[in-house]
Formats: sequence, C-alpha cells, structure tokens
Amino acid sequence: MPLSSVRSAVEQLLLPAECLICHGLLNPRDATRIVCPLCRQRWRAVRPPWCERCGQPEPHFGPCRLCAEWPAPLTSVRSAVWLDGGARQAVHGLKYGGLPRIADDLAAAMGKVRPETDGPSVLIPIPLAKKRLRERGYNQSEKLARALARQWRIPVLLDVLVRTRETPTQTALTPGTRLANVAGAFATANVEWRTPNVQFRNSVFEIRRSTFILVDDVFTTGATLAEAARALAQAGASRVMGVTFARAAIPDFT
Ligand SMILES: [Zn+2]
Ligand SMILES: [Zn+2]
Repeated sequence: MPLSSVRSAVEQLLLPAECLICHGLLNPRDATRIVCPLCRQRWRAVRPPWCERCGQPEPHFGPCRLCAEWPAPLTSVRSAVWLDGGARQAVHGLKYGGLPRIADDLAAAMGKVRPETDGPSVLIPIPLAKKRLRERGYNQSEKLARALARQWRIPVLLDVLVRTRETPTQTALTPGTRLANVAGAFATANVEWRTPNVQFRNSVFEIRRSTFILVDDVFTTGATLAEAARALAQAGASRVMGVTFARAAIPDFT
C-alpha cells in the first residue's frame, strides 16, 4: 500500500465520520467528505441578475461601483454561494479548522461558476503572506485551486503570483480603503513572461490566448482579486477571470 493511501486510511479512522456543520453521521459512501450532502444543498447560491463583470447581484443604475476601478484584463468574477450559515462554517473549517480536505466539498459547489473560456486556461491561487502561511501551515486558496484543477481538469500554476508585502487584515474596511490596503501587494515570480509565451518550469503558455483564473476562498469587495489581476496584467496577461467559493455581503454598500 503506498504511503499516501495509508495516510488517508489513517486520517479517515481518526476523523469523526460526522458532518462538520450539522454533526449528522455521514453515510459510508460520503465518508471522504467533510460536509454532508444536505448541508451542501443548504448553501445559498449567488444568483443573477448581477453585474456581468464582478458578479455582484442587483447592480444599481449607472456604472457598478464595485468593479469600476478594476484593471481592464479582469473581465469576470463569480462566486458560488453567499458567506452565511453553513457556508461560513465551511470556509472557517478550510481556513482555521486545519481541514484542508474540505476544499473538495467547496470545489464541488463551484461547478456553476466555472468560466467559459476559449483557448487554454490555468488556475492561479491568491497567495498568502509568508507569516500567515507559516502560522496556518497551508494556503487555503491553493487547496481550493488544486481541488478545482482536479474537478475541472485544468492546470494550476503555483508560485507564479507572490505576495510582496504583508497586508493588514481586511475586516471592516470600505471598498476604497481595501483597494489602498492591497495596492502593490502582488508580483509575478518564478516564471518567464516572454510575449507571446510564458514559460513556467516545464510548461509553456501562450499569454494572449490563455485565460488566467484567479482562485480565492471569499470575495468581499474584489480588491484582492483586482490587485492580483493587475500584477498578472503588468506581466503581460490580457485575460484574467476570478472565481471564489463564497461572497460576503457588504454592509451599507450602495
Ligand atoms: Zn450536515
Ligand atoms: Zn460590477
């Protein structure tokens, strides 16, 4: 038996076979899951009408305030569910509960937000600051991107996008201050961008034809995705999209 399957068998013995959210017993055929099918069905999908670009429902008249300042290559961002109830608990489990395997459950809920692209596409997780990575032991967006890569059968590019500085925690900031908060926080690395191609380790992508899909766990104002897209655009990417598992409601945002 390979070590990895021994490890996952041991992990299954150690993990309680109950749903993280409702604590109901998991059906043996769902034993590799963290969240039961019922709780996954209860996650509240983000639905249209929404701003075609940022995916924020019920845009007000006039230009959308949320995405007006985004860099031009970032054309579409979608989130699967609202960050409330069980979905909030699931994100918490991914982030702080030390349950990276829950990423598969979150990715399964993101089928409807898979971008339609012509030409090749690659997934790029939003990187964590080094300090936070050390504390957590893993990057939750990378876990999510890897799970999406398995389900969507497209590659994931790691270490291409890096944090250049730590950013203060983004809670309770207005859209404007959030954007200032992450300004210049990302850069590209470990990759040779030579128009029209990008060479990453053993893979070569044609920049112009490729769609770079940014992956994050939660969308709040889109400031992080916009700033990451700006770094990719500066390196030559012309098509950037974004997907997140959850979307946080912004209080008093009109
Ligand atoms: Zn449940
Ligand atoms: Zn918008």
